[in-house]
Amino acid sequence: MEIAFRKIAKEALDFELVKERVKFFGKVFRKSSDLVLLKADLIGEISHVCDRCGEDLKLEINEPLEILLSNGVYNGEIDEIDVVEFYDGYIYFDEILQSEIESIKSGYHYCNKCKN
Ligand SMILES: [Zn+2]
Repeated sequence: MEIAFRKIAKEALDFELVKERVKFFGKVFRKSSDLVLLKADLIGEISHVCDRCGEDLKLEINEPLEILLSNGVYNGEIDEIDVVEFYDGYIYFDEILQSEIESIKSGYHYCNKCKN
């Protein structure tokens, strides 16, 4: 799913995307000529394996997300906020969701047996 940067106005535009068992939904709205602010939630379940014993486990996620989307290279000051750059005038929501899922998976997660 993608939306052209030029189609996003100051009024918030809702989006919703579901991938496997994760729902990614929220709003995007224009912040400046080349910047769009995304406020969303990631809710659902990700299949993963325990980092200690390799047992399958499900990660429950419920994460608020706030990202700045840049149409082209981001030249602003480094903020507290994450910035994602897109280079062809479109925002690709699947890519944002995929990278958020990867970043959650890249942490250490243990099954209940290994936690105790
Ligand atoms: Zn384990």
